[in-house]
Amino acid sequence: MILITGGAGYIGSHCAINLLNEGKEIVIFDNLENGHIETVNLLKEIGNVHFVKGDLKNPDEINSVFDRYNIETVMHFAGYIEVAESVENPSKYYKNNIIGTLNLLDTMVNHKVKHIVFSSTCATYGEPLYTPLDEKHPQNPINPYGRTKLMIENILDDYDRAYGIKSIKLRYFNVIGADSKSRTGEWHTPETHLVPNILKSIFEKDRVFNIYGTDYNTPDGTCIRDYVNVEDLAQAHALACSYLKEQNKSDCFNLGTEKGSSVKEIFNAVKNVTGKNINVEFKPRRQGDSAILLADSSKAKKILNWHPEKTLEESINSAYQWEKIRH
Ligand code: UDP
Repeated sequence: MILITGGAGYIGSHCAINLLNEGKEIVIFDNLENGHIETVNLLKEIGNVHFVKGDLKNPDEINSVFDRYNIETVMHFAGYIEVAESVENPSKYYKNNIIGTLNLLDTMVNHKVKHIVFSSTCATYGEPLYTPLDEKHPQNPINPYGRTKLMIENILDDYDRAYGIKSIKLRYFNVIGADSKSRTGEWHTPETHLVPNILKSIFEKDRVFNIYGTDYNTPDGTCIRDYVNVEDLAQAHALACSYLKEQNKSDCFNLGTEKGSSVKEIFNAVKNVTGKNINVEFKPRRQGDSAILLADSSKAKKILNWHPEKTLEESINSAYQWEKIRH
């Protein structure tokens, strides 16, 4: 059985669907602070899902999951993810992300569970020294959120050396899109991400979409990111599980498409896909945004045999269908 911490959230729920489609039995552990019970209920309609509402900060709650279920592998998504909030309230981030993960890992040690796939991020690299970013790029995160993710990567390596826990760290670039059948999708409050923010201005009257910064050193002056589809990302997690089973080795992989899109290009693509006119305003740069973040994902392609398939338009369209349902 596979345990998914944070399985009621955005990326966790897509990974859950992917595993359920393969006939796997899963346990979701989520405190529902940012995850949604509606998502859990939908997952239960798809396959064999057990749900435990609990918090990783409470060791007894996670321990009881391992006592009750025969866990083989863990997928760890639970954690806070807002960069700006992490700068304002680092205590919240360190306590939740680090202590929660330590409690999870210690429970794994006690129950002799040896495999974990960890949801990491390109934010662990910090300001790029070169582009595209490969896994050897130095990791110097520039905000507490990124630092919690890097600390966890380091903790995982220490737990491998000391206790033989094998981990795959997946460093996501910009994840977009929703389930092709609109069963789950991006659902954050407040929403800070680009694609859902553009889409929300279609549905919410008086809402204006802001482009943050038009004076970057890029061809059109707006930031360039690597937008990877969430279902493709889910597939990488399934491959990471198989890799752990077959190779029993720790490793890290970048997950991106290796194609960059500027904020203006994404905005135009959303207009084309939806056929809607969207109000836009140009604002100053948002603090902490790098001009270009682009993945070199050749390692994931070669070693995990991961091949992202969805086009940008497909990702935007699935996100659009999901937003439609929610409005
Ligand atoms: N962005 C924007 N308007 C928004 C949200 C994001 O212009 O309402 C820009 C942001 O400045 C960045 C890019 O879109 O250059 C991607 O931002 P997002 O928050 O989606 O992901 P991040 O790269 O911060 O992880």
